[in-house]
Amino acid sequence: MGTVVQIKVSIDPAKYGEARAKDAINRAFDEIKRIEDVYSLYKDSSEISRINRLKKNERLQISDGVFNLIHKTLDYSERTGGAFDITVKPLVEVWNAARKADKMPEEREIKRVLGRVGYKNVVLDGIVRAIHFKKDGMGIDLGAAAKGYATDRAVSILEENGIDSALVNSGGDMYCLGKRTAHELWKVGVQHPRDKNRLFLEIRLKDRAIDTSGDYERYFFLEGKRYSHIIDPRTGYPIGDEVVSASVIAADSTTSDILATAMCVLGEKGLDIIKNYGGIDAVLVTEERGHLKVRMSEGIRKRYDISEEKL
Ligand code: FAD
Ligand code: MG
Repeated sequence: MGTVVQIKVSIDPAKYGEARAKDAINRAFDEIKRIEDVYSLYKDSSEISRINRLKKNERLQISDGVFNLIHKTLDYSERTGGAFDITVKPLVEVWNAARKADKMPEEREIKRVLGRVGYKNVVLDGIVRAIHFKKDGMGIDLGAAAKGYATDRAVSILEENGIDSALVNSGGDMYCLGKRTAHELWKVGVQHPRDKNRLFLEIRLKDRAIDTSGDYERYFFLEGKRYSHIIDPRTGYPIGDEVVSASVIAADSTTSDILATAMCVLGEKGLDIIKNYGGIDAVLVTEERGHLKVRMSEGIRKRYDISEEKL
């Protein structure tokens, strides 16, 4: 998935042998590889690539896993007013081409492509488990959700194999299963957004996912200016430089992956939106007139043990 995946498990050797633990980890990695084959845009044979070759109103039966993940992303598109939208694919392509040519896309090109973007033009049929697009030239990109999904699936495989304490990290999409030891929770650090060698937050977690999206991991330069790889599907342009990073804590990693990306588009408004969800928390870092500012969801400190460094 263009990233490094790390799985740590914690076992009591008297109850659970090391060989069994290694076997559980191998099975979890096999599942992640399977997910990459199904969800990758980089593989012509993937189910997602097959979906992306559909013409208007042409239907395709899809697997339960793909159906459920697309269903979940469409639900979050609705809840975030379209800030999160997997149909950004044609826009991602325009911006990739612009990056390669080092030339800003024409405004009318963005407008034209925007006509093919919109989650409301994706139709799922729950009875026969099929998908179709309402327009020609549409496509989906699960890059902002599938790493989280892979993490969740890896955690399920570990649990099915008797593991009750683990940390799975798919390139930042993390899940903390159980406690690290009988007395300690898993401790997760969030990197300082402007200094790779420092952490600015440490959070202790149990049975929770955390993910951070931001402007400092993946970005590109165009005509000398830096742009985010996250696009506002409502305007067609990469998000501005106000949001530096968004970390989201949720009960599952698919949700934290989706919402960390959505929060980058929504900024402060995102904090208001997640208030209504219950069980979801966020830490938002913004840059205002050269100063970094941290905002956290209400009550987060009561729910989690957080140590914070000054930004
Ligand atoms: P996130 O914020 O989680 O996601 C951002 C990405 O989502 C963008 O890059 C874009 O694709 C999309 N996006 C942008 N704006 C929005 C929006 N508003 N709503 C919804 N989605 C949006 N990388 C490689 O270099 N080589 C590979 O072979 C490769 N294979 C992959 C296979 C899989 C199954 C997955 C999930 C990823 C793969 N990647 C690969 C990485 C991928 O190209 C993205 O760079 C990565 O998923 C971005 O994740 P993130 O956590 O950095 O950012
Ligand atoms: Mg994401």
